[in-house]
Amino acid sequence: MLAPYIAAGNISVKAMWHSAKRVYEETPEIEFHRSIDTFLKQLIWRDFAYHQLIHYPDIIQIPLRKQFADFPWQGTDEQLVKWKRGQTGYPLVDAGMRELWETGMMHNRVRMVTASFLVKHLLIPWGEGYGWFKNTLLDFDTANNAMGWQWITGCGIDCAPYFRVFNPFLQSEKFDPDGEYIRKWVPELSSLQAPYIHRPWEAPITVLEEAGIQIGETYPSPIVDHATARKRALQAYQEVKGK
Ligand SMILES: Cc1cc2nc3c(=O)[nH]c(=O)nc-3n(C[C@H](O)[C@H](O)[C@H](O)COP(=O)(O)OP(=O)(O)OC[C@H]3O[C@@H](n4cnc5c(N)ncnc54)[C@H](O)[C@@H]3O)c2cc1C
Repeated sequence: MLAPYIAAGNISVKAMWHSAKRVYEETPEIEFHRSIDTFLKQLIWRDFAYHQLIHYPDIIQIPLRKQFADFPWQGTDEQLVKWKRGQTGYPLVDAGMRELWETGMMHNRVRMVTASFLVKHLLIPWGEGYGWFKNTLLDFDTANNAMGWQWITGCGIDCAPYFRVFNPFLQSEKFDPDGEYIRKWVPELSSLQAPYIHRPWEAPITVLEEAGIQIGETYPSPIVDHATARKRALQAYQEVKGK
């Protein structure tokens, strides 16, 4: 949760780097070393983002891999609004987008899932996501945000391969098995037990009734079918890959 302070210039990244190094040297526990290494690596990602912005100032608007300029985007304005409001019918995506709106923060894992959902499941240009994060993130940072979106889309430097489509329900099953995060930000699903809370559309009608949920009424049906959207994204990415 240091990012807002770094972005606002309240704390020096060099000071953070050196104090983390000092703690590392003063602490014998190996577990602690691992944790500090992980933290330092995050600061290096930030530095990497700044190098990119200095060398490629267009990174804010233009895909670094040029063939992505012709990407066959297909999403609609209506879908974009549903993504922004956390009404996609995919609980982890909705939890993340609602947390962002209410608090101005979102964990990196959820940023990756929601960003991937926008560009790959909905085929909406990454610039729309960049703009929304710019408006809503407390820690908005031009370099980090641009790198994050280009990385997720697959059009940046050292980016996620284009065929990596984050699966929103497997991600929450893995990182939030009991659905605590979803329960907090999507209260209309709070009485639904795991594993159904990760994919409520698969829950038996009796389970939904017990939890007071009507899919399509009290909580949206999935905005797109995951398997179909994944296939469509891979086809679209194949089109630009050869260019
Ligand atoms: C689509 C997308 C958009 C993003 N937009 C921003 C943004 O506008 N501003 C922003 O600061 N970060 C952004 N990030 C990176 C990352 O999500 C945040 O830096 C992190 O969640 C902040 O939480 P923290 O301070 O607890 O980080 P920690 O894990 O404690 O890391 C410490 C610091 O390292 C830097 N850092 C960590 N992860 C990254 C990363 N992946 N890339 C670059 N720097 C990193 C941040 O300055 C962070 O405060 C984005 C990531 C994605 C996938």
